[in-house]
Amino acid sequence: MTQLHHLSVHELAQGLKDKTFSSSDLVKHFANRIDSLDAKTNSFITKDFDNALKHAELADKLRHNGDTRVLLGVPMAHKDNLCTKGTLTTAGSKMLHNFVSPYDATVVENIANAGFVSLGKLNMDEFAMGSDNESSHFGAVHNPWDLDRVPGGSSGGSAAAVASGFVPVATGSDTGGSIRQPASFCGVTGIKPTYGRVSRYGMIAYASSLDQAGTFGKSALDCAYLLEPMTGYDAKDATSINRPTDSLVADILATATDSDKPLAGKKIGVAKAYFGAGLDGEVEQSIRAALAQYEALGAEIVEVDITDPAITLATYYLLAPAEASSNLSRYDGVRFGYRCENPKDLADLYTRSRSEGFGAEVQRRIIMGTYALSAGYFDAYYIKAQKVRRLIVEDFNKAFEKCDIIASPTAPTTAYKLGESLDPATIYLGDVYTIGVNLAGLPALSHPVGTANGLPVGLQLIGKHWAESELLQTAHIYQANTQFHKELPSIAKLG
Ligand code: GLN
Repeated sequence: MTQLHHLSVHELAQGLKDKTFSSSDLVKHFANRIDSLDAKTNSFITKDFDNALKHAELADKLRHNGDTRVLLGVPMAHKDNLCTKGTLTTAGSKMLHNFVSPYDATVVENIANAGFVSLGKLNMDEFAMGSDNESSHFGAVHNPWDLDRVPGGSSGGSAAAVASGFVPVATGSDTGGSIRQPASFCGVTGIKPTYGRVSRYGMIAYASSLDQAGTFGKSALDCAYLLEPMTGYDAKDATSINRPTDSLVADILATATDSDKPLAGKKIGVAKAYFGAGLDGEVEQSIRAALAQYEALGAEIVEVDITDPAITLATYYLLAPAEASSNLSRYDGVRFGYRCENPKDLADLYTRSRSEGFGAEVQRRIIMGTYALSAGYFDAYYIKAQKVRRLIVEDFNKAFEKCDIIASPTAPTTAYKLGESLDPATIYLGDVYTIGVNLAGLPALSHPVGTANGLPVGLQLIGKHWAESELLQTAHIYQANTQFHKELPSIAKLG
């Protein structure tokens, strides 16, 4: 029998149904792998194996008694910014190192109701600010393809855990690329849905107008299995959209993949601006080869214009820190989270709790954001950035008049070395292709299309609003006709 960690969610669901293995077998198998191998990647902040086994045993009992939920008993894990009742939720920060949420995020609840069993909480950049997972209070995550390299961020633990075969699927969150970029660096598939598609209730806020939870898997189909139950209207999130949810999995399973030109009639837009200075030559080659493959599958490549990515980058790095500075004002050392020792007075309590509880990158963002929002600068920075954001949306709308999907590199480079101490501005440049999507609220995914410099490369597919199903089907057709998503780092072959 194929080792259990090589099975897709589809195969796991089938095996559970056929009683080839039980949910308890799966939880034990994955827990053993994590116990023996995660010292290499540091993907997990909290391992919740005792609870997972209890849930698995319950799932097995329910199945035995006739519960037919397809996903009942399939293991997964959550990014540690999704609140889970009764276990730690740290957001990768010392500020929340001891925080136990009194409630589950809606996403966590929905996933549990679908039958999934959570193995624990995954490492991430502090408060999801970062692109390399090095700002975590719980230590950096190591890229499974090369343990000396970063996994990407901020959902680095989620991407590394899926790539290592520690969980078949994982949740992540994406404010400016935090699902897509680590998916690209770790050679897995990751999708960020349309803003409003997935409830933000119980997801620790970074920049509320951009934050959206999504999924990681070894394929588009696996991503769909976890995403589908996450989606849907939630009255507890004022920005949740009330519209019928798609049947993502059924749509993919009904997609014809093996006809001569399965993508005939599909227009894929390519923008020159996404192939400018800063794009690694080998990454560009892989991306061009992937576009040629899409053409061979019947898609038509058309040229489109989008906003200059340098403008998009500046807009994001004004708005996201502005929202962060406001969201993070709640961590004051009084109500919950870290509190400094022996405060002299109230001002000292606030100042030291925040200075000691937040890491350098989070403090930098709070300072930048507070500056952009302060009286006298508000109009020149924040309001101007909001106006530019509107123009970015309009540029995307115009581009989508000419095509169905826009394709680009997910990131300009492959994974860089841990501890390379790149200056913040250089790291921010790595987000250049992903952040426009968040500013416009669009759905986008990244899927592996080969290697450059011996490391995985991801192609980004951007869709129109609510086009998750189309994006996943398109990536699925590519994956049904290619093998890149099946390549594994050596750690995934161990155990
Ligand atoms: N790298 C980007 C940032 O640091 C995006 C992070 C994210 O999507 N959460 O803000």
